[in-house]
Amino acid sequence: MDKQDQILHFTLAAGTVRGLLIDATQTVRKAQQLHGTSAVATAALGRALTGAAMLAANLKEPNASVTLTIDGGGPLGKLVCVGDGQTVRGHVTNPMASLPLKDGKLNVGDAVGRNGRMSVVKDLRLKSPYIGQIALQSGEIAADLAWYFVKSEQSPSLVSLGVVASDTAVAAAGGVLLQPMPGCEPGMIDQLELRSPIFGAIAAELQHEMPENLVPLWFQGLDPVVLESSPLAYHCPCSRKRMERALISLGAKELGRIIADELDGAELVCHFCGSKYHFTTHDLLRLLNRIA
Ligand SMILES: [Zn+2]
Repeated sequence: MDKQDQILHFTLAAGTVRGLLIDATQTVRKAQQLHGTSAVATAALGRALTGAAMLAANLKEPNASVTLTIDGGGPLGKLVCVGDGQTVRGHVTNPMASLPLKDGKLNVGDAVGRNGRMSVVKDLRLKSPYIGQIALQSGEIAADLAWYFVKSEQSPSLVSLGVVASDTAVAAAGGVLLQPMPGCEPGMIDQLELRSPIFGAIAAELQHEMPENLVPLWFQGLDPVVLESSPLAYHCPCSRKRMERALISLGAKELGRIIADELDGAELVCHFCGSKYHFTTHDLLRLLNRIA
């Protein structure tokens, strides 16, 4: 099933609960192809990419973006994902790191680790970005993201993230976010929690069901209303121009050192998509002249 990824915005209980359902299957598939990730790395990166899409889904400002960084000290190293509402991109330090299954499941918690932090930087194109940070709780990412919403955004949330993957393929990936709004009945969170085993299996469900069919199915009796659907895709906006800016930002001294050390210029590889940009010594001198 090659359906296009999407983010469904919906409400429950007469608008007192806001929800997102994300189908990120193609997005995570693309990430696995680009990075050659092991099954557990695909699961971790896929959950983080879906989480970044969640965090960025309600950005209003043009060109705003969210960067989700998870650094738990586990064998995968650091995960960095960026979302801008319609696209996400991400990378992981050790994409081929692998761990045995735990209770028959991909051991994302130990692969990510839980001795470290999750940070969220929202660049809203204002002068200073918004930065929120929490100590990782489980390394499983969904629970950590839920904790982030409580702690940093004062928004109690139910988060579920799932990826069904092997070392060579991604069957499905997705996530659900539920956030009670002001005016939500006190018992509603309990009701939603009771249903969490159902929507917690989102990736398994997405293998044979369209996202728009899942919302009415899962939240029957809670007045589910789908508001809109927006597309989601893995996309990297890198370009030669951006790489030039990155080189210039190194400063004259560092750029001078690269020119002196490297006989045939420099090759920059984009972490997010693997694109290569070659700069000859002549190119680098031209950039150096722009700083000086
Ligand atoms: Zn790129």
